[in-house]
Amino acid sequence: MLKLDLHTHPFEAMGFPKPTYDAVEHVVMAVKRRGLDGIAITEHDNPRYGLEAAKIAKEYFPEVLIIPGCEVQLGGVGPSYHRQVVELYLECGVFRFMAHPYDYRPEILASCHGIEVENALHSSMNTSLARELAEKLELIALRNSDAHRLQDIGLLYNEVELELLEEAVLKKRLPSKTTI
Ligand SMILES: [Zn+2]
Repeated sequence: MLKLDLHTHPFEAMGFPKPTYDAVEHVVMAVKRRGLDGIAITEHDNPRYGLEAAKIAKEYFPEVLIIPGCEVQLGGVGPSYHRQVVELYLECGVFRFMAHPYDYRPEILASCHGIEVENALHSSMNTSLARELAEKLELIALRNSDAHRLQDIGLLYNEVELELLEEAVLKKRLPSKTTI
């Protein structure tokens, strides 16, 4: 089992510095302080930070797993945070989960592998409904920090095998909503 926070915004937290060795070191230190095995870097509408940080981490900080990802806004009405999904770029394909769910359109749920049942930033979300949906629709239930400050990384995290996410991807192939 790995301790993974799969929804974080460390580059937004730092004011969007270039994903250099120094910037990644700051993120890695925050991950280690929490005693996590890794995080997904899921900046809004920008897969570049996650992808570049993951590359640097793999080379210089192999003790920490950085999964590249991106938080994406889907079409529809209402506030943007009601329509957001997170995509993780695993080696075998895209794993998508509904972030802090407020929008329960079936077509969106059908295009996800997982769903957040807890999000440290969105305490107003309906946790019990999200848990019900996870069970009914066989979505992987996730708890993430959605950290927008480095010290919030790991406020919530999952104890999960990476293989569980990979199996879900292989079972249900989804095209990415972002260009990677
Ligand atoms: Zn977020």
